[in-house]
Amino acid sequence: MSLEYLVLFLAVCLTALFAVAALWIYERRKFHETIKSLDYFKKLCDELDQNTKLIVQKDLELSRTQESLDQRARELFVLHELGNKIGSVFDESVLAGVISKVLCEEFNFEKTAFFLRLRDKSRLLCLGSYGIQEKSALQEIAGSVERALTQINGSVLAAADSPEPDLHKMAVDLKFHSFLLVPIVLKEEKVGAILVGNSMTSDKIGEDEKDIMNLLANQVAVVIDNSRLYEQLRQSHHLLESKVQERTRELENLNQRLKHLSDMKSDFVSSASHELRTPLTSIQGYSSILTSGKLGPVTPEQQTRLNKIHLHANELVEMINTLLDISRIERGKTEMKMEQFSLKDLIAKVVDLLQPQFSARKIQVRLDLAENMEPAIGDVPQLQRVFINLLSNAVKYAPDNGTGVINVKVSVLKTEYQVSIGDNGVGIPEEALPKLFTEFYRVDTPMNQEIKGTGLGLSLVKRIIEAHKGSVWAASRLGMGTTFHFTLPRKAS
Ligand code: ADP
Repeated sequence: MSLEYLVLFLAVCLTALFAVAALWIYERRKFHETIKSLDYFKKLCDELDQNTKLIVQKDLELSRTQESLDQRARELFVLHELGNKIGSVFDESVLAGVISKVLCEEFNFEKTAFFLRLRDKSRLLCLGSYGIQEKSALQEIAGSVERALTQINGSVLAAADSPEPDLHKMAVDLKFHSFLLVPIVLKEEKVGAILVGNSMTSDKIGEDEKDIMNLLANQVAVVIDNSRLYEQLRQSHHLLESKVQERTRELENLNQRLKHLSDMKSDFVSSASHELRTPLTSIQGYSSILTSGKLGPVTPEQQTRLNKIHLHANELVEMINTLLDISRIERGKTEMKMEQFSLKDLIAKVVDLLQPQFSARKIQVRLDLAENMEPAIGDVPQLQRVFINLLSNAVKYAPDNGTGVINVKVSVLKTEYQVSIGDNGVGIPEEALPKLFTEFYRVDTPMNQEIKGTGLGLSLVKRIIEAHKGSVWAASRLGMGTTFHFTLPRKAS
């Protein structure tokens, strides 16, 4: 083999060696990189695993929270329903029974008891319980609850091994493993308590139940407040009712006595008037005979005295007749002869009759009567007396210097007419208005002493109007004038 071939061969071998070496180095690097990637991948897998565990754990926690939230929502709903249910309960024993039962059935407490202080605030009583067999122990436990309430502020969550003696006694007597004592506070006063407890270790009562029970206790306090207010209201209503009945009875008795006295007065007035009328009529008669001179000559002086006797006798007879009329109408002995008549015509007739008096005192009469009035109903002669009395009074008290005015107005109301007779005269003091219609009452003024009158006119007016089922009243301003109003029916009743 020539040297060139050997060199070529060596060169080829070397090249091949280099190529193999390069390939080996390349493969080895690739192998390391793969190992590195595998490590990284493993790490990633570990992290993923960790995260998955975390997610599962969180999911578990979430579903536990969801469960307790569901339970809470359910309890709140039951609480709401319970609120609606007890809102209308006013009997405290019924309230205690309902709450104890619902707490066991809906809130899953094993045992409940409801304590309330009596209204006289003397002591705390157990008004209701549920799930408790040891009923005889309950009233004794009420004493422990009462003592415990004085020491606690807010509700107390306790266990069987509570160091506080009263709480411990509750746990022992009612076989509680865990329990909750919730005060019912009304206007800052502990008026009662709700006791709930479980005997199983697995059903330990916790803070969540405490919150719900506090809400319930607040609701119960409001219901108790309402029921006590209702009770107070009921009692005052009863008291008021019996007082009203008592007063009504008293008033009825007084009314009867008044009626009896009024009858007696009318009887007396009637018989006295009759007795007086007979001698007065003879005085009238004899004075007339004497005045006529039939029994002998009469001197002018005797004539003057006889005239006075006659005049006064006439006035007395007139007064007695009015008194008898009042008494008869009052006792219903004068029957009103009700008929349809025209008010307009009656007013025109009376105004015409009194025209001389109006003219004598220069008084102007103005009429303001509703157009097309239907007929009124009443006893015309008696109503004529009413108009004459009121108009004569208006004439007497209106000014006579030419400024005197009398207004006669008729207004049409729903079922009646209202007649108003007003003047611009002296007026009547306010304190005299309520007494105007009583017999013999005359307003005590110097001017009135100058004016003649008996104080019977308005009393007669009132009796006549009331016999027509109407009413009469006066309105006046001193120095400005007076208006008398009365009503009369439009339709026969
Ligand atoms: P008499 O007119 O006979 O005194 P009345 O019963 O008619 O009796 O009236 C009672 C009193 O009412 C009168 O004395 C008078 O003081 C007062 N009075 C009545 N009508 C009027 C009036 N129009 N203006 C002022 N006072 C009046």
